Amino acid sequence: MSKAAISHTFKKLITPSRCRECDSYVYFHGYECAECGLGCHKKCLETLAIKCGHKRLPRKMTTFGVDLAQHLTETNTTVPHLVEKCVTEIDGRGTKIKGIYRVSGVKSRVEKLCQAFENGAHLVDLSDQHPNVIANVMKLYLRQLPEPLLTFRLYPEFIRIAKECGSGTGAEGTSRAGEELRDLVGRLPRHHLACLSVLMHHLHRVATQAQLNNMPPSNLGIVFGPHVAKDFGGLGVTQFPGRHSAPNTSH
Ligand SMILES: [Zn+2]
Ligand SMILES: [Zn+2]
Repeated sequence: MSKAAISHTFKKLITPSRCRECDSYVYFHGYECAECGLGCHKKCLETLAIKCGHKRLPRKMTTFGVDLAQHLTETNTTVPHLVEKCVTEIDGRGTKIKGIYRVSGVKSRVEKLCQAFENGAHLVDLSDQHPNVIANVMKLYLRQLPEPLLTFRLYPEFIRIAKECGSGTGAEGTSRAGEELRDLVGRLPRHHLACLSVLMHHLHRVATQAQLNNMPPSNLGIVFGPHVAKDFGGLGVTQFPGRHSAPNTSH
């Protein structure tokens, strides 16, 4: 470690950051100072030139970990460019891949793509990226939203409906749960609903290829649950309770 690096109190990075040494995205294999919040790649600790000021440095992220409403205002859009682009690309050439959204991408590529989105999401070209890397980046983005897509406030309601639906009887229980969910999502903030809508229609298309990709709604639920639904304690659900298929939302 450099002399400056020794002055910080480093712990493993838990929120994404920008490395203050090389100025790129850092999440995997990163460290942050418990006092000033400075983020740094492990490898960049060797040359880090910034000493600890013992008070919080301002955040430097534009996309990852940034509040959805704030991000949309700053980028003047209704759904994040990142979500639109990743969904479009995976619709185009990812829905038939076995384990799409379950299988992780290569970490170094995921980190580089996150960095590209930080630098200017509307300019990112995904055509050379592996769909597993793209899927991984989108999941990271969703997971790092300070307020999850389903919101902290409505979390208990979503869980309640999922539980009731799981214990309900057949088609009748399913259609009632569908109605309740429709009412419930209507109570989400507008920008959360817009983003959730893009995501859910996409996941429905992914699920229609389940025979090829092995990702029926139950698997997608397990994978996405912790990324879109969290309670105030910050713990994502590991699985919506008691259901083996999502309510039928097709027409
Ligand atoms: Zn670095
Ligand atoms: Zn520090």
